[in-house]
Amino acid sequence: MMTQLGQGGVSSPRPGIKIKVVCRVRPFLKGEEQDNSVQVNHAERSLVVVNQRNPSEVLKYSFDNCYDSQATQEEIFTENLVPLLQEVCRGLDATVFCYGMTGAGKTHTIQGTPDHPGLIPQSMKAIFQRQKEFLAKATPGTSNKFDIQVSYMEIYKETVFDLFKPRDPGMKEGLMVREDAKRNVFVAGLEKKKIISLEQFELEFTKACKNRATAATRLNQQSSRSHAILGVDIKIEDGATNKVFKGKLNLIDLAGSEDNRRTGNDAMRLDESKAINTSLLVLGKVVDAINSRASRIPYRDSKMTRILQSSLGGKSLGMMFVNIAPAKKFFLETYQALNFATKSKEIVNNAVANETKEIPRVRSINLQSLTSKRPSTFS
Ligand code: ADP
Ligand code: MG
Repeated sequence: MMTQLGQGGVSSPRPGIKIKVVCRVRPFLKGEEQDNSVQVNHAERSLVVVNQRNPSEVLKYSFDNCYDSQATQEEIFTENLVPLLQEVCRGLDATVFCYGMTGAGKTHTIQGTPDHPGLIPQSMKAIFQRQKEFLAKATPGTSNKFDIQVSYMEIYKETVFDLFKPRDPGMKEGLMVREDAKRNVFVAGLEKKKIISLEQFELEFTKACKNRATAATRLNQQSSRSHAILGVDIKIEDGATNKVFKGKLNLIDLAGSEDNRRTGNDAMRLDESKAINTSLLVLGKVVDAINSRASRIPYRDSKMTRILQSSLGGKSLGMMFVNIAPAKKFFLETYQALNFATKSKEIVNNAVANETKEIPRVRSINLQSLTSKRPSTFS
């Protein structure tokens, strides 16, 4: 009999592992007016943003890592995902999110392009590399396995769809979220594909991304309004030690965090906005509860957090990328996203705006006043 490790079987749970928060500011895009309202200090892992409501103030946020527009996809992957992947291959679960307004660089970070592959293709490549190394040094004559299975689902308006299957145009219900006898939550009928090569993964993943886009177009939605969750299950049987390790990695491209009520007012959008914001709102509460070691974590309050429950908090590792568009005109979205992602904020004098040589110092002000009234220039 092999010993089961991982997915609840790790002998010494490490409660209260915090969710890491990594900030990435994308470059200015063609046609965007360049300004200096967002500045990254990579060494200090912090970012400052000029408060557009009161330009004499600068808001300073600290993260576990913070990247400017020069950061490469490789750098982001190596410094943040590689340590997570090592743990996943030892039987832990990990969940990685990209949060931010539409256009901030979530899909670029998580998916990337053929020339600049993002976290998904780089992770899959590293997992297959790991598989190759494991099987190459396995003890002959013993049973050694390194199985990789992937699932890919979309959550739109609290409804779950399988992205590996073409969407039936009449399908409104989506997949059911259920609990088994051991109270493990699962998505009934979600396909898990066994993947044996990187090439096979790329084919399946590309097809699934097209399914997502086609379904969205047919229903007159944008895929930026849904959450896409790639799940990678790894099962390693080590013949030398007689142990089985089961780890899971979730890589999630979240719906745009912008408030759609500001950009349009038809009923569909309002309805969507409410549903999307429910998931994001609950996700924020779950992250806060985990990071403040609260006794109750509100997993059950949204479909996404319910599905992710076993892979988020407790002994599981979590990482949230907060993607930022640097232009001044996105200040409200930037401000909202930064506050969502981190509670670590200081307000300092903007020495530049004040045109003084004073050393910036920390002042306390009522932060709520920044959000309670929106300036007309941003509405
Ligand atoms: P989102 O998924 O958050 O809506 P995208 O990832 O689609 O945003 O990014 C919006 C645009 O910005 C795309 O054209 C993308 O190629 C570009 N972009 C985003 N991040 C970067 C980056 N780090 N380097 C270069 N281009 C980027
Ligand atoms: Mg996107």
